[in-house]
Amino acid sequence: MEPIRRIKGTDDILPPESLLWQKLTSIIRKVMSLYNYQEIIMPVFEYSELFARGIGTSTDIVSKEMYTLVDKGGRNVTLRPEGTASVVRAYIEHSLGSKSPVVKLYYIGPMFRQERPQKGRRRQFNQFGIEILGAPSPLADVEGISLNLRILSEIGIHNSKLMINSIGDSNCRGKYRSDLTGYLEKRFDRLCGDCQERYRVNALRVFDCKNESCQIELRDAPLMLDYLCEGCREHFDLVKKGLEKHQIDYSINSRLVRGLDYYTRTVFEIVSSEIGSQDSLSGGGRYDLLVEELGGKSTPAFGFAAGMERMLLAWEQNSVISSSLIKLDCFLAAPKGIHLTQAAIIAEKIRDEGISVEVDLLGRSLKSELKEANRLNARLVIILGEDEASRGVCLVRDMVSSVQWEEPSPRLVNSVVEYISKI
Ligand SMILES: [Zn+2]
Ligand SMILES: [Zn+2]
Repeated sequence: MEPIRRIKGTDDILPPESLLWQKLTSIIRKVMSLYNYQEIIMPVFEYSELFARGIGTSTDIVSKEMYTLVDKGGRNVTLRPEGTASVVRAYIEHSLGSKSPVVKLYYIGPMFRQERPQKGRRRQFNQFGIEILGAPSPLADVEGISLNLRILSEIGIHNSKLMINSIGDSNCRGKYRSDLTGYLEKRFDRLCGDCQERYRVNALRVFDCKNESCQIELRDAPLMLDYLCEGCREHFDLVKKGLEKHQIDYSINSRLVRGLDYYTRTVFEIVSSEIGSQDSLSGGGRYDLLVEELGGKSTPAFGFAAGMERMLLAWEQNSVISSSLIKLDCFLAAPKGIHLTQAAIIAEKIRDEGISVEVDLLGRSLKSELKEANRLNARLVIILGEDEASRGVCLVRDMVSSVQWEEPSPRLVNSVVEYISKI
């Protein structure tokens, strides 16, 4: 029969890479707790309307990439393409803002987008992200960016670059948008089809276009930074000053708009040259209008999301992942399976002490068992052979030093615990 394959654009993360994955999530959780962010675990599907309202119907995500289906009750539901809309939905639904003036949350989990799969761009991919709700201060922006960079540096990604921009607020963006639209109107015929569509629905997003001919047309386009109102200008200045005080290098990219409609004021992106064309590791910004847009009270907010597969790619360039990540304390060999039941009972007793043990369930020959113990990087091999069993002992061998000794069975567990704890 023809074997069934996984869905295009999805991945199986196999060992030993899955160990690197565990390491990545444990670093993320550690740094999150350093900054006092609490984890939120959200459903992976939501009513489609949440994303249409939250992310914006003009974005590629909502217009082209969502996995939407109609359930048996006739409701449109969507596999979440990003995390922020769900966090804000939960924030409003559980009135989290009434319990604490500033709510700091993080999430880790899979997202789904129907894109053309390529390296670093998958249909099911994983993101972690933070949301700070209730803090209007530029300090929140700086804290979020610092946290993001700290995670990268803990992973060993040091050559990333931070780009920042401000895309204004409802106060100043209107005037800018109309000037930009006027500029684009004169060049409309020379823009690509996507940009002509962007012109109609959200002109700022023409800056996301990778087409060279569009880039040329946009060379003299008006820039949002020249239109910032006093409040936005001051906010942006304080973000820059804050980053400088934290000795964080940044560059201003006045064309950085990010692909989502909900941002206000600060937007940022962190890129790495190590992962090829998909060079964005993470990005985010301030979204002061989103909570209200989704039916909550007006609440300032800041957040970012980072792609974990891309982070792993960058990490793998920097470090060698090998099967040496797999480690085992003890391998219990019961040659030919004669004392396999007894071996299994001893293994449980050793595990009670927090020491990892593998038992050879196949009851192979001693030679094959030793080979297997080597493959698994076992530190100790405990041999429960016929001869040893008849004398009430086990043979213990340190696979690194090759030292071996006979241990009376009643003392075995204690002596293994002692030995392993001294290594
Ligand atoms: Zn274009
Ligand atoms: Zn403004």
